[in-house]
Amino acid sequence: MLKLGSIAGFFLVGSIAIYGVSRLNSTPANRSTDPRKTEDLPSEADRSQDIDAATQIAGQINFFADTTHPGLNDEQQYRKGIGDMARVQVSRMIKKDQARNFPTIVIGRQGLKKCKDTPNSAGTYNPKCQELLVAFDTYLRYDYPIEVLYVLAHEYAHHLVEISLGSTSVSGLDNELTADCFAGYMAGYWNSQGKLTQNELNQVSDVMQAVAKVTSLDSTTTHVDEGQRKGAFFAGYERAGGKVVQQYQNFCKTLDRILKL
Ligand SMILES: [Zn+2]
Repeated sequence: MLKLGSIAGFFLVGSIAIYGVSRLNSTPANRSTDPRKTEDLPSEADRSQDIDAATQIAGQINFFADTTHPGLNDEQQYRKGIGDMARVQVSRMIKKDQARNFPTIVIGRQGLKKCKDTPNSAGTYNPKCQELLVAFDTYLRYDYPIEVLYVLAHEYAHHLVEISLGSTSVSGLDNELTADCFAGYMAGYWNSQGKLTQNELNQVSDVMQAVAKVTSLDSTTTHVDEGQRKGAFFAGYERAGGKVVQQYQNFCKTLDRILKL
């Protein structure tokens, strides 16, 4: 789960030059000159083998529009983003027999959720039902669809931890930092594909600033250093660009036990 606190100041996602001009539902930029392409996610040519994965998880996404948050009702954006997460799972999962074990995803409000949760945060992952929920309620700090995508990626990572290692085999702090590493990785991936606008990257910065100010993690009372979550997110972001920064060594080692990045 994920709590969002109050924003204080502005957090830059590294000092990376941002060139993104399109959104997640836009055509990726031409990557023919990208030296990282062999390290990247499957190319369009490889994509056909993942189409069924995207189709499968699409059938497990339940979206319930919330009229009190019209700015967040961007279902197609969320479906595209979750499809990318599923592709990462299929192509990078170390535990191969779990590579297509996708979560059920509920966005907006609980609706027909299998397991009823009592969310005290913007996002919830229920390992019993392997179901995650992002509710458009008072716990979301902004009306940014990118904030919902961040929370979706964070919760999706809790699912990957659960089916790879078992949630109880890692500490609460490790689980949370791993989730932020993965959310950063997805943000870095989207940016590398030219799928985020400068405005959206600024919004991600807002969100991470808010997250970093939270002093307790989810359902635990673990105190987390303000820099840790930002560091984890930043490290994941850089990893998507092929760089292993020091914060990755500090906060993201568990991600390497789950995904071959
Ligand atoms: Zn969490």
